[in-house]
Amino acid sequence: MSIDERTDLDSIPGTVAAIRHTFQSGRTRPVEWRQRQLDGLLRVLDDHGDDLVAAMQRDFGKPTLEAYSTDIAFTATEVKYMRKHVADWMKPRKAKLRLQDMPGKGKVVPEPLGVALVIAPWNYPVQLLVSPMAAAFAAGNAVVAKPSEMVPETSALLSQVLRDNLDPDAFAVFEGGPDVSTKLLEQRFDHIFFTGSTAVGKIVARAAAENLTPTVLELGGKSPAIVAPGADLTVTAHRMAWGKFLNAGQTCIAPDYVLVDRTRKDELVDELVKTIEEFYGADPAASPDLTQVVNDRHADRLAGLLDGHGGTVVTGGAVDKATRKLPPTIIVDPDPDSPIMQEEIFGPILPILAVDDLEEAIAFVNGRPKPLALYVFTDDDAAARTVVDRTSSGGVCVNHTLFHITPHDLPFGGVGDAGSGRYHGKSGFDAFSNMKPVLTKPTKPDLSLIYPPYTKFKAKVMSKLL
Ligand code: NAD
Repeated sequence: MSIDERTDLDSIPGTVAAIRHTFQSGRTRPVEWRQRQLDGLLRVLDDHGDDLVAAMQRDFGKPTLEAYSTDIAFTATEVKYMRKHVADWMKPRKAKLRLQDMPGKGKVVPEPLGVALVIAPWNYPVQLLVSPMAAAFAAGNAVVAKPSEMVPETSALLSQVLRDNLDPDAFAVFEGGPDVSTKLLEQRFDHIFFTGSTAVGKIVARAAAENLTPTVLELGGKSPAIVAPGADLTVTAHRMAWGKFLNAGQTCIAPDYVLVDRTRKDELVDELVKTIEEFYGADPAASPDLTQVVNDRHADRLAGLLDGHGGTVVTGGAVDKATRKLPPTIIVDPDPDSPIMQEEIFGPILPILAVDDLEEAIAFVNGRPKPLALYVFTDDDAAARTVVDRTSSGGVCVNHTLFHITPHDLPFGGVGDAGSGRYHGKSGFDAFSNMKPVLTKPTKPDLSLIYPPYTKFKAKVMSKLL
């Protein structure tokens, strides 16, 4: 049975309506209900983690350690954090009032938005479906989820175990591709959380606009790595190669390309070539630690990018169509106008461009759409600060790659073409909440000063007071 046959498109409107009915009954609001859903998500990860890792391996050869750490453990940490703090986060926050606002009491009451739609991509298929769901449940929402059709084994298993462990009246999952998403996007939701490409993000934003539905859009793009003066090139090469070739470069925040001082380019390239051999051996395509390219379409897309870039391939360079393995590939000095420097690469290819100085690197980044992540490597604090202050990106990591997404207190998200809205930790709870201000006034005194008729005396007193 193909994935699309599993979803009856005609069942979508009725299911969403039933879930809305549950939300409106108030069932999802109590802390106990929210904690039960978070416990359900933890059971999914604890009891079925090994099977989900195996499913990801069957789908795209993701190494066990990578699948376990980035999809199962990372997500479980996030869900546990939500579980621990949800009771505190839900509490109304007292607001300070000015003298003019007295007498009265002010508070901000976080309330759930309603029914949230979560659409996930395929590259971290468990993390990118379950983490936003955890935030939505913690905030007291009912959830409709759609995993990616590109990883059918993971999608099927994840959908089944989610159904088995969550409140069936307040949660539904629909498997399938664009036709299922399209049908879902025709329904009215109270929040849409989309993770995927910038192109599909625009389709989602258009559909959301029809109902003025708030969105979080976690999109892609080209994340630069700037190697500034004062960088330790051996450490830089290790950390850059790790963040780039993890999941075969199929990571939204992977460094997409490198800008390095012209005088240090050759040394950096040598270090990267050495690191690739250290990580993946003399024949990286045969390494069990190198993930496959997800499908033939993407393998062909990457083969296309390897054609006509105008640069020099110093290592790697060809996709094996049979195994869908592409060895880590370094291209030096590609044409900045070639497709590989215009499109998000989303594969294990790292272009390296020489620049004359930090100014040129900053101008290069600022001349292109705002990236999701920006990396700067240097031991010179002033150089790092200059890059942070004069560029705009969803997030920055200095002297490493990817790690800026792990601290609970660092909100994760994009800016510009890379998306909008944030999650992880409390910011996820906030994203799925309406922070409702409530002011309560006593009935006495009832100051007549503000009421018509507006006499001269009242005007005088008011102008003094205000
Ligand atoms: P995609 O945009 O092709 O698909 C994402 C989801 O949208 C899938 O569930 C898919 O079924 C659905 N979809 C596809 N076409 C659609 C359409 N026409 N209408 C409605 N829905 C549709 O992305 P992908 O290939 O799964 O993932 C790769 C992209 O996602 C990359 O650009 C990557 O940078 C980005 N990404 C971003 C983040 C982030 O956190 N910012 C994380 C992971 C991936």
